Amino acid sequence: GPVLSSDMKYKDCSPLQTFVSAKRKINDIFVEISDFVQETAKYVEAIDRDEKIIHKPEVELVSGYVSKVRAIQDILSRNHMKVVFFGRTSNGKSSVINAMLRDKVLPSGIGHTTNCFLQVEGSDNGESYLVTEASPEKQNVKSVSNLAHALCEEKLNENELVRVFWPRDKCLLLRDDVVLVDSPGIDVTPNLDDWIDKHCLDADVFVLVVNAESTLMVTEKNFFHKVSTKLSKPNIFILNNRWDASASEPEFLEQVRAQHTERAVDFLTKELKVCSAKEAKERIFFVSAKEVLQARLQEQKGQQLHSGALAEGFPTRYLEFQGFEEKFEECISKSAIQTKFHQHSKRGKLVADDVKNVMETVHERAQQQKTELMNKKKEVNDKLNHTEQQVQLITIEMKKKIHHMVEDVEEKVSKALYE
Ligand code: GDP
Repeated sequence: GPVLSSDMKYKDCSPLQTFVSAKRKINDIFVEISDFVQETAKYVEAIDRDEKIIHKPEVELVSGYVSKVRAIQDILSRNHMKVVFFGRTSNGKSSVINAMLRDKVLPSGIGHTTNCFLQVEGSDNGESYLVTEASPEKQNVKSVSNLAHALCEEKLNENELVRVFWPRDKCLLLRDDVVLVDSPGIDVTPNLDDWIDKHCLDADVFVLVVNAESTLMVTEKNFFHKVSTKLSKPNIFILNNRWDASASEPEFLEQVRAQHTERAVDFLTKELKVCSAKEAKERIFFVSAKEVLQARLQEQKGQQLHSGALAEGFPTRYLEFQGFEEKFEECISKSAIQTKFHQHSKRGKLVADDVKNVMETVHERAQQQKTELMNKKKEVNDKLNHTEQQVQLITIEMKKKIHHMVEDVEEKVSKALYE
């Protein structure tokens, strides 16, 4: 059978890092944009009184960008990749999340059903705690049973969101800014519109966890029909979970798999029309979340990945789960960069352009003012020169006239004297 290797290593160059570094870059760029806008705002406000150089709407435009850029920065720093898990109760949503996190973070199993939205995200200071909508103060969570207990204590509405903060350094997905959301089973007669509006509009990926022992249910399909009316081409993965149960009937394995695959492909391509048949095949997996979680917990205790009593075909199923994780990481990273950064980077460019244009206009007007003043000065100078010349000319004329007059008078006087 296939050889299993630990998958901790390849995670370090996972596609999630692309999102993480894109996030860092766009945040750095916005720090620069913000500095530029603030500096410009200070400058235009200082020259505000000079109507000839700057106009009121220009001052308002630049000043207005200060708070707008700050708001974008705020959104950008909080941005993450979000995946929401759906499916009927007990199909294994919590188990899938735990397997991906390599830890028993969420309560799962008999006696526990998730009756609200549970969002797992990274906490920075090594703390683990939960926060509900009703009581925003941190409630310490030491263990899964602790969490299960805390959830039972709360009177929770199915539409409510409980945020579970788990140390970032414990799970690579959390370290890389992935947020995982578990939902109440879609068989609990939910208000789908409210669910989608409140929890799904910013989701990058949806994972439908179905039971490989049964077929896609109408309730499961309806949910995604609703989703695709509100989001254009949502990214949907379909996990046929509990595939280990099929190990006991190897003679039907391929047949069951082919049948489930065909139906799931039809659902994604013909009903929802969210992807091509080729893409759809890369979105459908047959796995056992329970086995993967068990194996990973064992590996962390220092035991071999595939030790313990596991059903026939475990290595293949394990590899398929890894395959799912790889495709999932590629997809969520790409989608999140596209949906979360594309608009903002365009907007950032627009802001920078607008501010630059204002500054260029101001500069141009200032140049014009300068030229006008110089021209005026020249005009005055020219006039002065002219006048001076005139005066000089006149003076010369006068002198000549006076000279003539004097000569004339002298002549007349001497004539008179000698006659
Ligand atoms: P959820 O209600 O969808 O969150 O389902 P849970 O994750 O709580 O799982 C319900 C039960 O199914 C638990 O007892 C799990 O241990 C079990 N389970 C989950 N995944 C698998 C699997 O792949 N194989 C088997 N045999 N059992 C599973």
